[in-house]
Amino acid sequence: MGRITLDKVRKAFGDVEVIPPLDLTIEDGEFVVFVGPSGCGKSTLLRLIAGLEDVSDGQIRIDRQDATNLPPAKRGLAMVFQSYALYPHMSVRKNIAFPMKMAGLSQEEQERRIEAAAKALNLTDYLDRKPGQLSGGQRQRVAIGRAIVREPAAFLFDEPLSNLDAALRVGMRLEISELHKRLATTMVYVTHDQVEAMTMADKIVVLRAGHIEQVGSPLELYNTPRNVFVAGFIGSPK
Ligand code: ADP
Ligand code: MG
Repeated sequence: MGRITLDKVRKAFGDVEVIPPLDLTIEDGEFVVFVGPSGCGKSTLLRLIAGLEDVSDGQIRIDRQDATNLPPAKRGLAMVFQSYALYPHMSVRKNIAFPMKMAGLSQEEQERRIEAAAKALNLTDYLDRKPGQLSGGQRQRVAIGRAIVREPAAFLFDEPLSNLDAALRVGMRLEISELHKRLATTMVYVTHDQVEAMTMADKIVVLRAGHIEQVGSPLELYNTPRNVFVAGFIGSPK
């Protein structure tokens, strides 16, 4: 569970082609990072996978299923946003429970998953607080908790740490990496931060103006960047 295949996926907004036809395979359990400068199409690509945008052409498969025309809720993926997107009037517990309630899970199963997620994310003592009473890092953990309880085939992260200060970012980076190890679930992670890409990824996808400049492990990109753009982005001289 959790293999994502893009087959000639293209996206245009009106006359503007933001993603020219693009092929990409994300293996089950892989931690894949999309990196590239602002405006290169990272969020658009993630939103296409999530189903928050419709493709203009091409096909998206999730595991063996053609997901191209599936609504977001039917794709089995969970997206974590930079803005957290928590409900301010609901407690942490209710925020985390919300997607399970929508999915009609039993109260008992909801409780079980909330406890497990809270424990994994160090939120046990904060379940009765409102988002406004939490730090930025704690809010981001709640957003991740709300994704975990859905037991998705893959997690999609769009710059989840860019609202946090530098020290907190380092800690959360480690937490997300550990979560990935523990859950062994596919994670697709968008960032414009090269250090995040280098330290977290199994596979880095370097994007430029909507196309893939290079795909490889952090080491491959560092040692054998295909061109000056990749070298500049990953930080090794060429
Ligand atoms: P990134 O996440 O890499 O910064 P985006 O995927 O947000 O880049 O945007 C890629 C390009 O697509 C940008 O030029 C942006 O202006 C354009 N774009 C994104 N969303 C829309 C939209 N809904 N309508 C028109 N243009 C859009
Ligand atoms: Mg973006």
